[in-house]
Amino acid sequence: MNYSMNRKYYIGVDIGGTNVRTVFATDSEYLLKIVQPTRKTGPDTTLVSQVIQMIESGLSTLNIHKGEIYGIGTSSAGPFVDGGTKIWTPNISGVGNDWKGVPYIKPLREYFGPNCILGLANDCVSSVKAEQLFGAGQGYSNLVYVTISTGVGGGIIVNNHLLKGKSKNAGHVGHLIVKKDGPLCGCGQHGCIESIASGRAIVRRAKEQGIKLENGKGLTTKDVFDLYHQGNAKAQELIHETIEYLGIMFSDIISIADPEIIIIGGSVFIYNQDLLLPKIISYVKDNSFAQISKGVKFVPSQLKEFVGDLAGLSLIFPSEVISKWQQLQPWRKKIKIKDQVVDKVN
Ligand SMILES: [Zn+2]
Repeated sequence: MNYSMNRKYYIGVDIGGTNVRTVFATDSEYLLKIVQPTRKTGPDTTLVSQVIQMIESGLSTLNIHKGEIYGIGTSSAGPFVDGGTKIWTPNISGVGNDWKGVPYIKPLREYFGPNCILGLANDCVSSVKAEQLFGAGQGYSNLVYVTISTGVGGGIIVNNHLLKGKSKNAGHVGHLIVKKDGPLCGCGQHGCIESIASGRAIVRRAKEQGIKLENGKGLTTKDVFDLYHQGNAKAQELIHETIEYLGIMFSDIISIADPEIIIIGGSVFIYNQDLLLPKIISYVKDNSFAQISKGVKFVPSQLKEFVGDLAGLSLIFPSEVISKWQQLQPWRKKIKIKDQVVDKVN
């Protein structure tokens, strides 16, 4: 009996500050998805234990043995430390705990054994892979994925090679400094694009400018864009400035990565793409190194809400499974979700 023939199940894990998601898949379909709030209390092994328990719970629901798992691909908020084996995310480590990073690869390896393929990458790095395999990046060997959402992040593929770096932190474009002495960023630097153009930053800057709603309610990113469209001068100035700084970031990315295509996702961008996309393109056209930026395509993410489920799987799928999934597009079908309530956290 060929042992590896039995390894026909693929698991994708998506770790965020709010939720952990695990998806269970075969070479042609999704079987199950489990979502739980991210556990952040107890010893620093709590999170990896949660992931293992969620996988065990899915395996038992589906009646699968852990020896039948081909691989586990994890897409996580970064950054990573210790050569990319530990996760040290500001939204998880140090939030109600004193964790100096979350040990991840070693405990998974010990639990699932030496023959289980393990993949781990930043959520945007795994998203650029997912877009290349299943979304707007199909057919391209040089591409960049950028998300503009609660934060700003990116992933880069050059000559078909997914850039990872010494600790899997390559592509952290949200922390490109675009403004000297700019706002303090969560990373400790000043003037990162994330501290100017993320959803959170747009709201913070709008409040600093004295922009508020007439009904006195708390301001959201959507409100700032609505005020822009209603002709509010302060909101217009703020959004135009945001677009300029995004343009600087995209020009820098083009100089570094020499991409054929830049795929942009994230809620701040997706909900406002009609406004943002043409203005970003025109800024880059007028201000970047023309010989390098000429012909670079800017497109919205195609996978949108599906990207999180596909990201982890994209890190571990073998080529024959990739072509089957490209053909069948199982992510478009509804997955059965097992929503588990965990013991109350905090
Ligand atoms: Zn930063």
